[in-house]
Amino acid sequence: MQPRLPSTAIVIGSGIVGASVAYFLARRGIAVRLIEAVSPAAEATGAADGAVSVASKKPGPMMQAALKGVALFGELADEGLLAGAFKRRSTFIVAASEDECAVLEAHASALAGAGVRVDTLDGKTLRARFCALSPGARMAIEVHGEGHAIGYQVVHRLLTAANVKVSRNTSVQELMLDTNGQRITKVTTSRGDARADIVVLAAGNGSAGLLGLRDILRPRKGQLLITERAPALNAAMPGAIMSGRYLLSKGSQTSAKAAPGRGLGLVIDPLVTGQFLIGGTREDFGDRSTNDIDAVSQILRDAVALVPGLASLRLLRSFAGVRTAVVDGLPLVGRIPGTENGFVATGFEGDGICLGPVMGKSIVQMICGEPTDVDLSVFDPSRFVLSGALQ
Ligand SMILES: Cc1cc2nc3c(=O)[nH]c(=O)nc-3n(C[C@H](O)[C@H](O)[C@H](O)COP(=O)(O)OP(=O)(O)OC[C@H]3O[C@@H](n4cnc5c(N)ncnc54)[C@H](O)[C@@H]3O)c2cc1C
Repeated sequence: MQPRLPSTAIVIGSGIVGASVAYFLARRGIAVRLIEAVSPAAEATGAADGAVSVASKKPGPMMQAALKGVALFGELADEGLLAGAFKRRSTFIVAASEDECAVLEAHASALAGAGVRVDTLDGKTLRARFCALSPGARMAIEVHGEGHAIGYQVVHRLLTAANVKVSRNTSVQELMLDTNGQRITKVTTSRGDARADIVVLAAGNGSAGLLGLRDILRPRKGQLLITERAPALNAAMPGAIMSGRYLLSKGSQTSAKAAPGRGLGLVIDPLVTGQFLIGGTREDFGDRSTNDIDAVSQILRDAVALVPGLASLRLLRSFAGVRTAVVDGLPLVGRIPGTENGFVATGFEGDGICLGPVMGKSIVQMICGEPTDVDLSVFDPSRFVLSGALQ
């Protein structure tokens, strides 16, 4: 028997995940109210690099999900929704040390095993292809079929296309359950109560308090830089560059040399504007309101070591955002344990731009009782015990 589709939905949080959920619900004719503490893309989504990438993913379910994520970006661009907002390009992961060469070779095998087109480029071939790179680059892998999208632009497109009403500056304070403890009957907000057939929590770091998962969901800060326009240098870069160290910093591969507390993995993305977006850190402390000179200097030092031409560019802006990380490295996507009509999609750490739309689509498929594009079983939130935050 087909499950009865909900008529109304509350989505909490309008980052890329909440906006994607809202879009896919609205496409089915479900009336959505999107409740947002600040404004669309106010948190991680508005402060991300924007790599839509399989290249950096840990082999296994995250790599599989990212493959679907990249494919969906391509489809949405081709059908017009994300036309001009999704730039297709390769990612070059570059090794500058013995350690990084070893990590890269293992990673290239994992990517190829997952069906990704990968080429290995020795130092000479690499420099012929990528004349902007320093002689310190020893080898690279080119991961084909990747792309880049600016998070806030994607959110704007999704919300406009779905014609979804966003209740801004409205903070959800509690999810209230019925006496059986199985149905979310209402959500209390800073501007009164709201009710709907289903509730989807996509509040990034705000999800932790609402679910009682502060020990499970952890903030992870990242700092990024933007340069002035440099069209000639930009045109000399056939794709984004990621240092082999990025994989170490992200924990896709384990290494005894991975720094605790603050990791630094270099990504240099040539933007369509002719500028360069350069990142970034992974820090288990700090908020989005500050950049510190140590991090900025270190990012610049690493970037110039790999692409010497960047030394002559002015830095226009530095900024920071806070990712939502889950202690076991996998996002939480699925039913809120014990509830009939509550769902959660969060904890995408540094992968939520790539995964947001496909996870939003998949959770809507789950809500509607259909097979999901991404196998969500491994992301099921019931692997953790909620510590009784729901009332
Ligand atoms: C520096 C940096 C670089 C990154 N680079 C990449 C990248 O290259 N590729 C990639 O795929 N990903 C990247 N990411 C990760 C990506 O940005 C996130 O995974 C993604 O944006 C998470 O989206 P979200 O919708 O889950 O959360 P968020 O964007 O954090 O949105 C959550 C929303 O919920 C709202 N909210 C919170 N609490 C409440 C409440 N109680 N009531 C109502 N609303 C609430 C917030 O205001 C916010 O708008 C990066 C992140 C950072 C910080």
